[in-house]
Amino acid sequence: MKFATKVIHAGIEPDPSTGAIMTPIFQTSTYVQESLGRHKGYEYARTKNPTRITLENNLAALENGTDGICFSSGMAAIDAVLKLLKSGDEIISTNDLYGGTYRLITKVFSNFGLKSHFVGMADLKNIEEKINKNTRLIWIETPTNPMLNIIDIKAICDLAKKHGIMTCVDNTFASPYLQTPLDLGADLVVHSATKYLGGHSDVIHGAVVTKTEALAERLYFIQNAAGAVPGPQDCFLVLRGIKTLHIRVQRACENAKVIADFLRQHPKVNKVFYPGFEDHPGHELAKAQMRDFGAMVSFTLHEDTLEAASKVMSNTYLFSLAESLGGVESLIGHPPSMTHGSIPREERLAVGMTDSLIRLSVGIEDVEDLVGDLRAAFEAL
Ligand SMILES: *Cc1c(COP(=O)(O)O)cnc(C)c1O
Repeated sequence: MKFATKVIHAGIEPDPSTGAIMTPIFQTSTYVQESLGRHKGYEYARTKNPTRITLENNLAALENGTDGICFSSGMAAIDAVLKLLKSGDEIISTNDLYGGTYRLITKVFSNFGLKSHFVGMADLKNIEEKINKNTRLIWIETPTNPMLNIIDIKAICDLAKKHGIMTCVDNTFASPYLQTPLDLGADLVVHSATKYLGGHSDVIHGAVVTKTEALAERLYFIQNAAGAVPGPQDCFLVLRGIKTLHIRVQRACENAKVIADFLRQHPKVNKVFYPGFEDHPGHELAKAQMRDFGAMVSFTLHEDTLEAASKVMSNTYLFSLAESLGGVESLIGHPPSMTHGSIPREERLAVGMTDSLIRLSVGIEDVEDLVGDLRAAFEAL
């Protein structure tokens, strides 16, 4: 099955009891048993729910994995992956990873003896230097947030395999439409389905997709044991969102390209970070491991101040000032003061995240309207 067919059909059957073509929302906590030990495979809804199972099967197919274990948020999915580790284990991660993941590793799991290293992953040597006999997991995120660097998934997975280390890719920014890390050698993929998979900014949800059934079994155990499961209504919303994933992401990518080109030639804009540019350092890699260049674009202003950025952001009308990404509507944000506010300024500047850095999550509105919105906002400067 090709991707556009999978989003609509993979793992999804009409409801056997009614013929309902859309997966019903099984809003129940428990299931009646015919007699002791005799039931239809469902005992309690933390353990199994038919709406959730349908979504889990669909997600597995989208990422070419065995299972797509679902959680109540992206962070709960990441939490479950980290629970595969034990005290004394070490994790090597990208240095510009999602702030929530950084917080979970350094502020929660550190209390349980998990040791972490954060390195620039453009150079494999940085990873190799940190590998030792306790290294259990390498954590990759690409494209990175908010600088949109591209990391070589296959090269890192090859290196990890040589050392018997597990790899996990946070695929939230790309979505399985643009990249499927399990095909490049990763063991696990995590998603904040809150973003592109859900796609309509109306649900918080997460998932882990596994390369092997053995890993899936361990994660189902954690899912049931820790209990951070999504409700059936949320699973329904993600299932519904996924049906249009391919056309949403395709259109958002097309729009992002036009907007990146517009920004690049605008006299008030300094740098534009977008892997679709031929002179972006990760361009060739992005071409090789992604289907398109994504719909996230970051840029800085010549007037490189928080005030200037703030002026632009308070003068857009279609781009809404908000955290998050991946919805049908366009969003604008200021990572230095919003998502990355806890990072010391010098560290931010060192990676190019200067005071005026603005991040766009480009939606699927008419691109002329989006360009017009930005053009008008720049006039406020
Ligand atoms: C949003 C996000 C998360 C966290 O997901 P939630 O659904 O908000 O818990 C993790 N990783 C990335 C890359 C994200 O953008």
